[in-house]
Amino acid sequence: MATPTVESGIRGFRGELLRPGDPSYDDARRVFNGMVDRSPALIARCTGTDDVVAAVGHARDTGLPLAVHGGGHGVVGHAVCDGGLMLDLRPMNRVQVQVSDRSVRAEGGATWGQFDAATQEHGLAVTGGRVSSTGVGGLALGSGSGWLERTLGYTCDSLIGAQVVTAAGQVLEVGPEQEPDLFWALRGGGGNFGVVTRFDFRASPMGPVLLGGMVMHPHEAAVDVVRHYRDFMAQAPDEVNGAAAFISAPPEPFVPEPVRGRPVLGLVVVYAGDVAQGQEVLRPLLDHGSPIVTMVQPMPYTAIQQMLDLACPRGMRNWWTADFLRELPDDGIEAIAERTGRVPSPMTQVILAPGGGALARVPREATAFDLRDAPWNIHFLSMWPDPADDERNIAWTRELAASVKPYAAAGAYLNFLGDEGADRVRAAFGPDKYDRLVALKDRYDPDNLFCLNQNIAPSGRPPGPRAGS
Ligand SMILES: Cc1cc2nc3c(=O)[nH]c(=O)nc-3n(C[C@H](O)[C@H](O)[C@H](O)COP(=O)(O)OP(=O)(O)OC[C@H]3O[C@@H](n4cnc5c(N)ncnc54)[C@H](O)[C@@H]3O)c2cc1C
Repeated sequence: MATPTVESGIRGFRGELLRPGDPSYDDARRVFNGMVDRSPALIARCTGTDDVVAAVGHARDTGLPLAVHGGGHGVVGHAVCDGGLMLDLRPMNRVQVQVSDRSVRAEGGATWGQFDAATQEHGLAVTGGRVSSTGVGGLALGSGSGWLERTLGYTCDSLIGAQVVTAAGQVLEVGPEQEPDLFWALRGGGGNFGVVTRFDFRASPMGPVLLGGMVMHPHEAAVDVVRHYRDFMAQAPDEVNGAAAFISAPPEPFVPEPVRGRPVLGLVVVYAGDVAQGQEVLRPLLDHGSPIVTMVQPMPYTAIQQMLDLACPRGMRNWWTADFLRELPDDGIEAIAERTGRVPSPMTQVILAPGGGALARVPREATAFDLRDAPWNIHFLSMWPDPADDERNIAWTRELAASVKPYAAAGAYLNFLGDEGADRVRAAFGPDKYDRLVALKDRYDPDNLFCLNQNIAPSGRPPGPRAGS
């Protein structure tokens, strides 16, 4: 039997195959982060589980590096590789809702925009990504943080099953009863254990209209507003979701002219409950200080889920990191405020997302995802258009991230992490969970075929790309 090659295509594959020079190749290989510019030898646009089995088998048999593309939002750009096979799940984007038991089946390449549109037709939701083009796949496998998390938990806390194609090409149905260890690993362990062709979630009644929006304060008031927000959130009921966002005011008509493009503090609020009740509960937040603009109103949950879309265009240069904080003392707030006051790019966002509520109630051992009790999760999302500004933006982000390290909890949040090395990945799980994940990696992917991710290497192998990747 002849060895399969890139030229000969993929045996049994029915979807589209793209090679360098094909008209849609360049668009297909581009990911969210414009700093990532890689050229796979072959892009396999999968139309179903059989295509995924064929593509995984092809990578395994040829030794080609294998990248798995869900929504393409991973900031490191693991979704695409040089010279290898990019398994593109985007054509697999169906989302089906069964109202009788509130179950939702989402194919592995669906986005949150597609997911929310399908579920909200029935007044249902699962905690989902805050930008609608983000993939359900990568986000859910890394736990999944979103505007409903204090009410419903992380995305992975609503996962009830999955279909997984393993490195050996087996198609496994996974859930609490079948392959329970693998089911545990999928909830936080990332793309290490196979290609998830279908996610099954239990959705919750939500909306379709919620009280939400943003209160924008002058940057000079940031320390006072965030201190007040911190103290408010320490007592807030589960329905209160949101974040304190150090951003720059958008150049929009609703923003007074002198503030446009200047650093501001945006308090994002989403009340996942009755609108009138939300107005009462949120009053202390909405009435505090002297905001520049208050844009909090009843709005469709699908609109809340797209609030940040325009602020996050595809193709910008992105350098991100994140930390859980065990405390947010005044000194920490002052450090963030001082540095965000001289942010080098108006596109950059520094998000302080509160923990607590449903996030903290799931037992720590229930999922591979580990850090459940941190009161704050801080995301440093630096974004700028011009390669000439790379050094300045990266240096600024590093300095800011270092300034809150004294308050960081042991651990890491993989969904917003850059390429920060094996120790950070290990720290995200803690030693016991990491050992359990390695044992599962030995069982389901002993050759580390799925290595382009926040990698958990099988025993005896270094983490990261296989030789040739
Ligand atoms: C603009 C923007 C907004 C974001 N907002 C949020 C947010 O609100 N909350 C949050 O938690 N995170 C958020 N993230 C981070 C995001 O969750 C991670 O980057 C995640 O990895 C993206 O998943 P993806 O499928 O879009 O990305 P991809 O780059 O396609 O995938 C990342 C990795 O996930 C794995 N993967 C993806 N799909 C599958 C699958 N079906 N089966 C197996 N492996 C798979 C692969 O290993 C892949 O390399 C955001 C990112 C961006 C760029």
